[in-house]
Amino acid sequence: MGTLLDALRRLQTIEQDLDHVRRRMRIRKNAVAIQQRKIEQFESDYASLHAQILGHRKEADSLELDLREKEERVTKYRGGLNASRSNKEYATILTQINTLRADNARIEDQAIKIIQDADALQEESKEIRRQIEEQQKHLENVRSHSEEELLKLNVMAEELSARRAEAIKGISPQTLSVFERVSESYSGESMAPIEVHGRKPPHTYVCGGCFMSLNSEHANALRIRDEVRTCDNCGRILYIEPQE
Ligand SMILES: [Zn+2]
Repeated sequence: MGTLLDALRRLQTIEQDLDHVRRRMRIRKNAVAIQQRKIEQFESDYASLHAQILGHRKEADSLELDLREKEERVTKYRGGLNASRSNKEYATILTQINTLRADNARIEDQAIKIIQDADALQEESKEIRRQIEEQQKHLENVRSHSEEELLKLNVMAEELSARRAEAIKGISPQTLSVFERVSESYSGESMAPIEVHGRKPPHTYVCGGCFMSLNSEHANALRIRDEVRTCDNCGRILYIEPQE
């Protein structure tokens, strides 16, 4: 393989390494964001539980108020009971007292149920608080680890960029633009080896990128010339493996 195709293959390797480093950088940055979102979700769960607990407490308070008011009425009716002047009046007041008492028993049950619910929610919110603290510690770890890793990756990216600048020096802008265009279409894979099939001539040739058959003229030309030839099907820049 000639100087030009060698240089292009070197460039491809450098660009693929650079891509790989940049992907690792994105993953690192995402890891922090993902962990932050996880905590935000817990915080939002906690806030909604807290609102529910407050709602329960308010409801329990108002039931208690209702209960007290009804108790006062029972006390008043009791006074009326003692002062009643006829059996009929006595029976009427007694019915009212019993109705209020039945109401109160029902309200009390309701209040107990609400308070129990609020207690359960309180426990749940404590557990969420604990998880938030745990996840925050984890976030700190992820963050400091990511920072370290990002520093290393930055150095690697800078080195690769410098090597890339060096590698393109001998390549003409025209060739470079073909290389970059193909690279964009095939996510960094702009070069393809010519695969030679068959032990004896006439050989058949296949593009190692798209696996479509190639005109033998490409292989023949590349055996004697160091030039950019592209696959007629996929457009990748062709080369012959050194051992061929
Ligand atoms: Zn091809």
